[in-house]
Amino acid sequence: MPSGRGKGTGVLGIIGYPIEHSLSPVMHNAAFDYLGMEYRYLAFSVPPEALAEAVAGIRGLGLVGVNVTVPHKEKIIPLLDDLSLEARLIGAVNTVQRRENRLIGHNTDGRGFVASLRKRVKRPLRGSSVLILGAGGAARGVATQLLLEGVGRLTVTNRTPERAGELAGCLRKVKEDSVCVEIRTVRWASEGLAQALGETDFLINATSVGMLPRGDETPLLRTYLEALPKTAVVADLVYNPLRTRLLRESAEMGLEVVSGLGMLVEQAVLAWEVWFGREAPGKVMQEAAAAHLDCGEAGSITP
Ligand code: NAP
Repeated sequence: MPSGRGKGTGVLGIIGYPIEHSLSPVMHNAAFDYLGMEYRYLAFSVPPEALAEAVAGIRGLGLVGVNVTVPHKEKIIPLLDDLSLEARLIGAVNTVQRRENRLIGHNTDGRGFVASLRKRVKRPLRGSSVLILGAGGAARGVATQLLLEGVGRLTVTNRTPERAGELAGCLRKVKEDSVCVEIRTVRWASEGLAQALGETDFLINATSVGMLPRGDETPLLRTYLEALPKTAVVADLVYNPLRTRLLRESAEMGLEVVSGLGMLVEQAVLAWEVWFGREAPGKVMQEAAAAHLDCGEAGSITP
């Protein structure tokens, strides 16, 4: 159990801007209720100019820890005392642990994605060929972890090609200790993309395309999806809606699909374990999150 707080309710939270739609309070408070723990998890709306004061507040108020989301994941780093290996490699923090009065930054996004995939898909990641759509913060976390898992080829494509190039450059630095053989970029919506899809085992959408309120959009038209091998797995990081258009169309073509809800839950489970050093009630957290989402067809898609 975390130390350094007086008797009474232990407080955790998430800092971001905007933060109103975060599902983290729902998941963590459900876990506390289930285990009868005297802790509460709150959403703190922290605009960029208030980040340093908010971090001082973690120490001053004796919070157990916080999650960190957009736009603070990178900016918070210089305000912390130390970083885990993953946070250092990814260059972003989504979980802060207060240990005595030291603040340690972790990143559970990439490991959360891989844990979610492992629970739902039998196919091994090691040696596989992965294509990532997007080059933002989530793509960086997931791609870094995939390299650590030993994927064989990582292809990045992004609407803004310069960002894909930057991400590939960062990933090549991580690559040294892994068995990855190739990191490359291809042009968004190009003939090169269609060719790369033809040799893809795992297609991962790490863009925000398809997210509500624009749930009718897809990052990859059907004509591109048709280039995938029939054995490919399609994973979406977007979890709202649970059944994105990308996943619906992929499933219609007989491809195996994985929604973003699993990653959302697993990154929260891993954060919990950083704070409390014990196993989190993942099933309770998943049910709480799913109940708040557009889950009409949750049973027919692996969440
Ligand atoms: P971000 O840093 O803002 O990156 C957004 C990415 O989406 C960029 O690659 C951007 O391309 C691309 N994009 C945005 N609009 C586009 C469009 N109309 N067409 C093509 N590409 C477009 O965001 P992020 O933090 O990486 O998050 C990305 C998504 O992952 C969000 O939907 C987020 O909710 C989800 N996510 C899910 C989890 C989970 O636990 N399941 C965790 C983290 C994030 P440009 O570079 O060209 O702008």
